[in-house]
Amino acid sequence: MNIHEYQAKQLLAKFGVAVPRGGVAYTPEEAEKVANDLGGPVWVVKSQIHAGGRGAGRFKGNENGAGGVRVVKSVDEVKSNAGEMIGSVLVTKQTGAEGKEVSRVYIEEGCDIKRELYLSLLVDRDTSRVTVMASTEGGMEIEEVAEATPEKIITIAIDPVTGMQGFHARRIAFALGLEGDQVKSAVKFLMAMYKAFTDLDAAMVEVNPLVVTGAGDVIALDAKMGFDDNALFRHKDVAELRDETEEDPAELEAGKYELNYVKLDGSIGCMVNGAGLAMATMDIIKLYGSEPANFLDVGGSATKERVTAAFKIILSDPNVEGILVNIFGGIMRCDVIAEGVVAAAKEVSLHVPLVVRLEGTNVDLGKQILADSGLPITSADNLADAAEKIVKAVKEAA
Ligand code: ADP
Ligand code: MG
Repeated sequence: MNIHEYQAKQLLAKFGVAVPRGGVAYTPEEAEKVANDLGGPVWVVKSQIHAGGRGAGRFKGNENGAGGVRVVKSVDEVKSNAGEMIGSVLVTKQTGAEGKEVSRVYIEEGCDIKRELYLSLLVDRDTSRVTVMASTEGGMEIEEVAEATPEKIITIAIDPVTGMQGFHARRIAFALGLEGDQVKSAVKFLMAMYKAFTDLDAAMVEVNPLVVTGAGDVIALDAKMGFDDNALFRHKDVAELRDETEEDPAELEAGKYELNYVKLDGSIGCMVNGAGLAMATMDIIKLYGSEPANFLDVGGSATKERVTAAFKIILSDPNVEGILVNIFGGIMRCDVIAEGVVAAAKEVSLHVPLVVRLEGTNVDLGKQILADSGLPITSADNLADAAEKIVKAVKEAA
């Protein structure tokens, strides 16, 4: 789960991470009030969406206008710029062409920037450790820095037993070219950041830019933060920060039925039980020359309700041209699954080819139920047969 910049900054500040003062606003009037409370002389109006590149982004219908992050010098300008942003759709490098609607803005005090640096913390699967990445190339996308000048990125894996130690933090500070009191400020920042990251079960934090101010303080000017969904149950306050309008509606719906659904770009919808089988099913669809429209694991207890919900979610994707159901009936019996598939197919008035491969307990009875349903369901005998049939059926229907 991801959160907005202002939410990340509020959370991080509680751990002692230095951030500029600011306040969120849902209307131009609220923005005006926040600006007055902050006092000037410089304010920054920042669109809050779950995507980076806002500064260089442009609003739909005003492609030659200003971006999603604007530095202004009066309360009136704070108000008018907030008014322009709220309700408008911001398109950035990270949103895709459709962009994202801005529902709130963050009003922040203007910062006297001396240097822009880069910092992120993430869980590195290779080392199984929280890893700190830092670079002198702040403000740029780190992927671009990694491509063009990888030597400008330093990476330090932190041993979970010791946690972040002073020497780790100093090594990072020196690599960033900090001096004197800046080093002290950076060390405090990094120690607080690591504690926030681990205490909150974060999956990643990206501070781009991390800035050195004219006064020599090291502060987070931007903050992007994501959390481990599996740990959210123990962070109710973080879970409450979820902004459902930022999430994929189909993935949200799937969550309600405890379906593991991830939308992909292909045309063949997959409904499978078990993550491993779902991966294998996606692979074999590719092998037969097509692309999966989704990953969907209905789990071990595929009841009729869940199968129906899964069908609806798959069909809500306009790219789906065919569905492949691949279910292993172990604890679940194949006849029960077949009944669920038939009922669901009737309920959603299926309009694309459907291939079903069942295997396991009562498989013959299951196949009989599919055949007797009167629905245009194609049965398959094994995984390869199923993939071949659905790819062929979609090609013929096109
Ligand atoms: P994004 O990465 O989505 O473009 P940022 O929060 O990084 O958004 O802002 C873009 C740029 O705007 C920053 O690199 C910085 O130069 C400037 N900026 C952001 N916040 C402030 C601030 N409080 N004071 C001064 N400049 C800012
Ligand atoms: Mg940024």
